[in-house]
Amino acid sequence: MSENNYVLALDQGTTSSRAILFNSRGEAAASVQHPLQQIFPRPGWVEYDPMKLLASVRQTVVDVFRETDLTGRSVAAIGITNQRETVILWERATGKPVYNAISWQCRRSAKYCEQLRESGLEDLIRQKTGLVIDPYFSGTKLRWLFDQEPSLRSRAERGELLFGTVDSWLIWNLTGGTVHCTDYSNASRTMLFDIERLCWDEELCRILEIPMAVLPEPVPSSQIYGYVAEGEAAGVPICGSAGDQQAALFGQGCFEPGMAKNTYGTGCFTLMNTGRESVRDKNGLLTSVGWSINGETSYVLEGSAFHAGSAIQWLRDECGMLQTAHDVDILAESIPDNRGVYFVPAFTGLGAPYWDHAARGCFFGLTRGCGRAEFSRAVLESIAFEVSDLVAVMNEAAPVPISELRVDGGACVSDFLLDFQAGLLGIPVERPVYTESTALGAAYLAGLAAGVWGSTGDLASLRRSERVFPPRLSEAQRGRALRNWHDAVALARRWGDRAE
Ligand code: ADP
Repeated sequence: MSENNYVLALDQGTTSSRAILFNSRGEAAASVQHPLQQIFPRPGWVEYDPMKLLASVRQTVVDVFRETDLTGRSVAAIGITNQRETVILWERATGKPVYNAISWQCRRSAKYCEQLRESGLEDLIRQKTGLVIDPYFSGTKLRWLFDQEPSLRSRAERGELLFGTVDSWLIWNLTGGTVHCTDYSNASRTMLFDIERLCWDEELCRILEIPMAVLPEPVPSSQIYGYVAEGEAAGVPICGSAGDQQAALFGQGCFEPGMAKNTYGTGCFTLMNTGRESVRDKNGLLTSVGWSINGETSYVLEGSAFHAGSAIQWLRDECGMLQTAHDVDILAESIPDNRGVYFVPAFTGLGAPYWDHAARGCFFGLTRGCGRAEFSRAVLESIAFEVSDLVAVMNEAAPVPISELRVDGGACVSDFLLDFQAGLLGIPVERPVYTESTALGAAYLAGLAAGVWGSTGDLASLRRSERVFPPRLSEAQRGRALRNWHDAVALARRWGDRAE
């Protein structure tokens, strides 16, 4: 291994910024993380100070080099991965943001989304962008910015302002204000991007009244965008970029159609590679660009569950049933079966495939003997049931079914959860040794462009599996468990439907 073959991944997330230096075997040589403060100006609104966000990333770069005796000269490439959909608008001339960053979590454009739905635009938007109409995506947040301060729109039309998601903001700043681009995977989450033609869509920009002069240049996920202008990494090419979930799929080595990963974090994100085909789904799964390398674009299907690890936190913090998150595993394994207890984690309604905002969390089947063990087991099982619902609709929509699920995220440490997951899905569940898939994916994309790795085949050979969980439930056990879960979901939905 030559000593200048390190790859630096910058992972800018919702609550922290991280920098990880990988060697050419894909092993982390150094890693640092700094928290990022969120701003909550009103209920449902979430923002960041874009300068603080940038400063936190710059600080991770300084600190990651301090952690080792490496310098920027050892680094062949920088890859960026980021929280998706978050909107930043800044002045081209000064680099100053004109407003706080509006977070992906922010619901401020909900009314406008309703109007779009009422105007019957759902099919058109799904067809072009692969998305459902929701405040989550960047387009309506940007529209809100222009509406609340109309002078911004005329400035944008004159070319004085630039829009970007977090990737664009970082690349523009790190290159000293010379490169304004966004990779296709991030562009896919704006609701302004045609995922087939791989360009901004004029009609959607017209509908959302977004001046096209503000938009970054859409670019593939693995090519040289520009060079770092100053600091420790001055002169290093920035040559990989993807939104966090797509980067995680890439970092998990899911390069072929039919390969899929699930991240068990606060919520769950399941993504499946569908290859060259951008599959549209009627059950509310999203379609996005996964990545585009050497002119070949891979598409993904994406489904998410709002609550997963957060339900474990709830058992610990609100119910006081656990001392640590790990207790949930010990308690779940302390009983031989779930004793007929089921939990539906619909704290904020249900996502795909139900899309029911009214459903609420429920436990079913409680008897006098139930205690912490039954609650813990039901909560862990509910996470696996949610993922199994997502995988089922993906298999219905996609040309190739999922034959193995690769996993990461905080709750993937639970052997009980993964064993039950494999049983429910009837396919193996595989946990890698290194589970920071997001950063690894960004490093892989950048390292490919810089020649650190030659092909995805090289990357696949770097992967080390820590444990494979084979499916151990019989067809009868699996069928019974799924039937009970679906009955529980139906009852949870009825609770939301009843008159108050
Ligand atoms: P995010 O990136 O979404 O903030 P993480 O990937 O860090 O989340 O995962 C955090 C989640 O992992 C928490 O919600 C927590 O409940 C869960 N978790 C942590 N340790 C365990 C454990 N030993 N068993 C099961 N779940 C766990």
